[in-house]
Amino acid sequence: MTLNNIIITDKAPETLNDILSKENYSKIAILVDENTLANCYPLLEGNLPQHTLIEIKSGEINKNLDTCTYVWQALTDQSFDRKSLLINLGGGVIGDLGGFCAGTYKRGIDFINIPTTLLSQVDASVGGKLGIDFNGFKNHIGLFQEPKNVIIDRSFLKTLPEREIRSGFAEVIKHHLIADKTGWQGLKNHRFNELDWSTLIPHSVQIKHKIVTEDPHEGGLRKALNFGHTIGHAIESYLLNNDKGILHGEAVAAGMICEAYLSYKRKLISETELNEIIQFIQSIYEKITLSDADREEVCGYLMQDKKNRGNSVLAALLNGVGNVVWDQELNRQESLDSLVFYDK
Ligand code: NAD
Ligand code: MG
Repeated sequence: MTLNNIIITDKAPETLNDILSKENYSKIAILVDENTLANCYPLLEGNLPQHTLIEIKSGEINKNLDTCTYVWQALTDQSFDRKSLLINLGGGVIGDLGGFCAGTYKRGIDFINIPTTLLSQVDASVGGKLGIDFNGFKNHIGLFQEPKNVIIDRSFLKTLPEREIRSGFAEVIKHHLIADKTGWQGLKNHRFNELDWSTLIPHSVQIKHKIVTEDPHEGGLRKALNFGHTIGHAIESYLLNNDKGILHGEAVAAGMICEAYLSYKRKLISETELNEIIQFIQSIYEKITLSDADREEVCGYLMQDKKNRGNSVLAALLNGVGNVVWDQELNRQESLDSLVFYDK
């Protein structure tokens, strides 16, 4: 399947070669981290024209300016020019950072993203957001720019730890809940190990693609993608700042339960819909344990959210499964109530 510049295939090496054979790049570099070097690069290697490898350290902690300096320096050392290409082979960190480096090197060179995690395939691959974290602020410096191509191949997922797959799957669940009622009816009856990625990945990409095409710069509709992320992000930030490991999708899964509860409290979804959402999410994700004190702290983080408006925070709530209302104000007490509800 092809959606503008996004190609979903089970033949990434051949697809990449095809693209490269039609262009005349002066030089090609491939950006990897130690995990994608070991697991993903070998799947491409045999087919590639001459190229330079640039290896950075994995992890969100390295999605920073120092790593960009390293990448820009490597491109400079190899005399990369305006006609050179950067291929970003990795998860969302490599895609965001590599895209940012390419988009700013010599005022922008072509880049191709080959996302290798479920999260980056169904989410970060779509919408042209690039960037890095800065002084503790996530995605604080960056730009919107489309890669020349995105090549999505689920073969890369074979080496991805199951916990990472479950985490990325939270965004797939979200896409169904916000935009595909019929798809949700089918999805909710599946066990995790029965899921068919060959259809779920393209479907999920299609949903996000449609939303960001209608609203490229987050003026309205794109905010629907924040469902589960207002409370989810507060849980994630609180736990990470307290050295408790949590993956993004695990926090978003909890956030979706809280925000579905708030949608129910506002009579936007039925009790049956709420229960189905909770049941499905709980069949896939372990419950996150939060004490009373933790919940208070999470609310503290929530009120500092970027989407904050005075004493309330803005969230996207479900308006029936498959629909969203955004810019909904949540106050501290109802947010706390939803966290208490989550714990029950
Ligand atoms: P990640 O890039 O950190 O990858 C997770 C881990 O998996 C890393 O250790 C990585 O080395 C490893 N890995 C990657 N592919 C592998 C494979 N095939 N086999 C084995 N190991 C592999 O994390 P992520 O979850 O992919 O992405 C998170 C990042 O994406 C965040 O920085 C977030 O801000 C960003 N993001 C961006 C957008 C966007 O629109 N640009 C959207 C969502 C998320
Ligand atoms: Mg997300």
